[in-house]
Amino acid sequence: MEIKNTDLFKEQCYINGEWVNSNNNEIIKVNNPATLEIIGKVPKCGAEETKVAIEAANTSWNNWKGKSAKDRSIILRKWFDLIMSNQEDLAQIMTIEQGKPINESRGEIAYGASFVELYAEESKRVYGDIIPDPLLDRRIVVIKQPIGVVAAITPWNFPSSMITRKCAPALAVGCPVVIKPASQTPFSALALAVLAEEAGIPKGVLNIITGNANEIGQELSVSPIVRKLSFTGSTKIGKILLSQCASTVKKVSMELGGHAPFIVFEDANVDDAVLGAMQSKFRNSGQTCVCANRLFIHEKIYDEFLKKFTVAVSKIKVGNGLEEDVVSGPLIDAYSLEKVKEHVKDAVNTGAKIAVGGDMHELGGNFYKPTIISNVTTKAKITYEETFGPVAPLYKFKTEEEVIKMANNTPYGLASYFYSRDIGRIWRVSEALEYGMVGVNTGLTSKAEIPFGGIKESGLGREGSRYGLDDFLEIKYINMAGI
Ligand code: NAP
Repeated sequence: MEIKNTDLFKEQCYINGEWVNSNNNEIIKVNNPATLEIIGKVPKCGAEETKVAIEAANTSWNNWKGKSAKDRSIILRKWFDLIMSNQEDLAQIMTIEQGKPINESRGEIAYGASFVELYAEESKRVYGDIIPDPLLDRRIVVIKQPIGVVAAITPWNFPSSMITRKCAPALAVGCPVVIKPASQTPFSALALAVLAEEAGIPKGVLNIITGNANEIGQELSVSPIVRKLSFTGSTKIGKILLSQCASTVKKVSMELGGHAPFIVFEDANVDDAVLGAMQSKFRNSGQTCVCANRLFIHEKIYDEFLKKFTVAVSKIKVGNGLEEDVVSGPLIDAYSLEKVKEHVKDAVNTGAKIAVGGDMHELGGNFYKPTIISNVTTKAKITYEETFGPVAPLYKFKTEEEVIKMANNTPYGLASYFYSRDIGRIWRVSEALEYGMVGVNTGLTSKAEIPFGGIKESGLGREGSRYGLDDFLEIKYINMAGI
C-alpha cells in the first residue's frame, strides 16, 4: 500500500474526539485477504469502552442538534470534499484490508461519499406538516426531531459506504453516532473518522469502536441512551440484535442478507443480460448482498446465454486487488472459501454441471475461480442459501408464472433483476417480485438517490434517498388550542 496521507491509517478507536486503546490493551490483528499478511491491529474493546462512547455521544447531542441544519450541512459537505480529495488513499486502504480490486474500491469511496453529499443537502429539508383541525380554535402541527444517539454496526464487504449510508443521514438531522465496524475491515472506518474530525464534526458526535462484537453489540442494544440501532450484516446476527433491542423498544433498521433472482426472459437482449449478470454476480467476488444468486434463464435462450456468459466469465482476471488490471480479488477468509466450495460440491452432487471454474484458483490462499454451474436443481443448497462468492448457478424455466414462483421461493427479499423488452411483462413482473428492489434490464441499481432495503428476512427500513432520513427522526404532534 502506498498512501500519501499517512495520518489516515489509524490503529486506535475514536471515542469522544480522542484516539484511544482498549482498557486492557488487547488487540485484534487485521490481515490482507489477498496475501494473508498482517497489515495492522486495532483495539479489542468491550462493554466498558462502549459505555464511554455512548455517554460521549449523548453529551454531544444537545450541541449537535442545536446547530442549524445549514451549519450541519456545511460540515457534512466539507466531510464529502475531504473524502473525495483523499479518494485514492482511502481506496488503497480498502483494498488491502478487504481485497476488492482497486477500481472497485475507488468506486466504493465515491459511492460512500455520495451519501454524505446527498444528506448535506437533505438536512435542510426536514419538513413538518400543518393539518386542519376539526375544532376551529385549534391547529395541529407536526414536527420531526432527531431520535437521539444512534448505534451503527456494519459489515466487511462495503467497509466505507455502509458507514456513510447510516451516519450521513443520522448526522444530517442532528443525531450523534457510535459505529462498530467489522473486525476484518476497521481501517476504512477509522480513516473516515480522521476526515470527519478535520471537517469539523465536534468531539463525541462521531465515535468508532472496534472489538468484541458480542459485547459491543449487547451494550449498544440494551443501553436506554441509544435510541436507534442500524445494522447491516447477516440475517442471523440481525435477528439476535432485534431480540436484544426489544428490551428498550429501540427503533431499528436492518439491512440483512439477500438471495437475488436474476431472470432472463425469451424476449430479452441476451448481450445486455450477460453484461448485467457479470456486473451483478462478480462485483466484489460475489460478496455483495445484492448479488445475482440464482440465474433463471428461459429455455429458448438458455444455450445462447450460457455460451456468451461462459466466454465472459473465462476472461475475468483474478488476483491481488492492488494490481490495476485485476477484476476479481480473494474471498474475505477461509470460512467464506469453505462455504463456496461446499455449495459447488453440493450442486454437482445434486445434478449440476460446471461450465467454467468450479475450483480453487491457482493463486491459492482465499482465491476461488469465477464459476458458472448449469442445470442446477432445486435440491441444491445454493438454491436456498446465500453463497457470498463468485459462483453463478443457472436454472432453466418455461413460463412467467413458474419463474416468479421460483424467484419468490425464499425467505429473503432484497434485490431482484430481470431482463425483458415487453412493457406489459415489465409491469407484471416488477409488481409480482417480492423484493424491496427490482432492476429491469440492469444489473446495477445501487446509488445514494434510491431507497435501498429489503422485505421479509432481508430487513426493515430503507437507507439512501429522502426516505433514508425518516429512520433517524421522531414525529411529534403538537395541538395548539385557544387560537
Ligand atoms: P455479520 O457476521 O452479520 O457481521 C456484520 C457485523 O456485525 C460485523 O461488524 C460483526 O462484527 C458484527 N457482529 C457479529 N456478531 C455480532 C453480535 N453478536 N452482536 C453485534 N454485532 C455482531 O455479517 P458479515 O459476514 O460481516 O456480512 C455479510 C452479510 O451482510 C451478508 O449476509 C450480506 O448479505 C449482508 N449485507 C447486507 C447488506 C444490505 O444492505 N442488506 C449490505 C452488505 C452486506 P465482527 O466483524 O467483529 O464479527
